Amino acid sequence: MKNQKERYESNDLRIYQRLNDRSRLSDEDLAYFSYLEKGFKGEKKFDEWTSKLSDNWLFLNDLLLECNKSEFQIDSIGINGETIYLFEVKNFEGDYYIEGDQWYKTSKTEIKNPYEQLNRTESMLRKLLNEHKINFKIKPHLVFVNYDFFLYNAPMNLPIIFPSQLNRLINELNLQRFKLNVNHFHLAEVFLSLHKSESKYKQFPNYQYEQLLKGIICINCNTYITEVKKGKLVCQACGYIEDLSNGILRSVEELKFLFPNRKITTNAVYEWCGIYKSKKGIWKVLRENFTKNGHGKYSYFD
Ligand SMILES: [Zn+2]
Repeated sequence: MKNQKERYESNDLRIYQRLNDRSRLSDEDLAYFSYLEKGFKGEKKFDEWTSKLSDNWLFLNDLLLECNKSEFQIDSIGINGETIYLFEVKNFEGDYYIEGDQWYKTSKTEIKNPYEQLNRTESMLRKLLNEHKINFKIKPHLVFVNYDFFLYNAPMNLPIIFPSQLNRLINELNLQRFKLNVNHFHLAEVFLSLHKSESKYKQFPNYQYEQLLKGIICINCNTYITEVKKGKLVCQACGYIEDLSNGILRSVEELKFLFPNRKITTNAVYEWCGIYKSKKGIWKVLRENFTKNGHGKYSYFD
């Protein structure tokens, strides 16, 4: 399979991960964080399956598109022959059932109908293709990747792929003998050019610098480093050893990511890293890795 667009953790998932390490999330935020994390893991699981497809397939993952001023998100698109295979991926766990047009978790809580979601995505995609005078068929699939998922009353006519059917789906898709040509790559280019990196409706959680715990977090186990020894960070929890300068640079990236408007100064990084008590050492790391602006106590790095 030729992958034209990889899947990465979204910015909001990354923010929640950082906030979860450095603060106490409210129950609501925690639930949303786990929803994002679960969704991402499910999609990565699906990517493992599609990586087994032959080179007759072109894939694009995680697209955010817009049509008629409405945004829609696509988990995966597979291109082959004259068809765009549209995949909506769900990592649902536990027992669910369908009653009429409604979907429920067995605790009787109604959930957002994923099939309706797929329908909406399909119709938006169709409009977008029409707008660009692109003639491809669309074949939608609703894929469940979690083996601990069960759906009662699933009508056979829905384009659902259960985990136990994924192997067969991949084998079936691998039977397609159409070779990729310039039209397919052109189509992929169009999708990439229309892809938006950030949703205009995105709402990030509210967080303040003061609320967050300061320190360097172990890259291996996400706990706070408590020991600096001979230029190394030693994690007491998992034993992982990392170069101090590496840990400082990671923390600077994190600081820049969470607070893009804050200036990167020696003092700011000293405070953010917490554990390392040498301003001179921090200044040296910054000096070696960033461009210095200004002089003396007004200098900052970028
Ligand atoms: Zn660790």
